[in-house]
Amino acid sequence: MPPPPDPTPVDNSLRREACPLCGATVSAVGVMQLPPAIQFSTHWISLRRPPELWRCEKCGSAFTQNAIPEEVALGLYGKGDGGARWSSHAPFEATKTREAIDALRRLVRHGVRLLDVGCNTGELLDHARFLGAATTGVEPSDASRAAAVARGHRVERSLSEATGPFDVITAFDVLEHVYDVPAMLAEVAAKLSPGGRFVALTGDITCAEAKRAGAGWWYVQCPEHVVFPTLAALGAARLHRRAGGHHLRRRGPRAPAAAPRLAHALRPLPLRRP
Ligand SMILES: [Zn+2]
Repeated sequence: MPPPPDPTPVDNSLRREACPLCGATVSAVGVMQLPPAIQFSTHWISLRRPPELWRCEKCGSAFTQNAIPEEVALGLYGKGDGGARWSSHAPFEATKTREAIDALRRLVRHGVRLLDVGCNTGELLDHARFLGAATTGVEPSDASRAAAVARGHRVERSLSEATGPFDVITAFDVLEHVYDVPAMLAEVAAKLSPGGRFVALTGDITCAEAKRAGAGWWYVQCPEHVVFPTLAALGAARLHRRAGGHHLRRRGPRAPAAAPRLAHALRPLPLRRP
């Protein structure tokens, strides 16, 4: 779809003085080069100032400087058609990495209570239900939520509305959209059952490709992606403190056959309670 001549101007004045993951000192990586009209969900918008990529000097996480404020972003997600923007006509298995699929297959069996954060129109939930799970989703897009509900899943607008506990919580290609990742992880931990697992999939800002490309790394995807946490930062996030002893397990990157452009960039991050 070609961009319209009159995209809606959107404020992108959110600046952070400290790392959104660990609170340490941050410095600029570079200015993002964007066309005058860009998409946010299914909205065509223009930004008032050039967004920049910044990096934490302590934990190595990166984030967007001059981001769209969270309440504005939530409004845009809510009224956007997530199913059209991030549509997947391919089966769920074809759109995620091998590790993500394998993690789900290992963790989900009959009777498992699964929560998928950012469930869009419900492809992962369908897959989990096929494996025997009782499914709940969280999805801010009204249109996507309605589609997932029509497929028979319980779906809430926000994580705080999802009533736990859950045995498995997934967040695939979601963390990079989240403005306060430590707060989200704490909420996830509070909703996990004893022995429950959290599995996340997001871009790996420490991969060679990201280091080479800087602000031009394909996964930066302004304006929706606002943060790129390192494994170290996620490990240090207070998921542990709230739930007592979660830890991260690290896996190497793999490219799913149907999406080779994801090579090197995505890494599943299973968090588990020992
Ligand atoms: Zn940091």
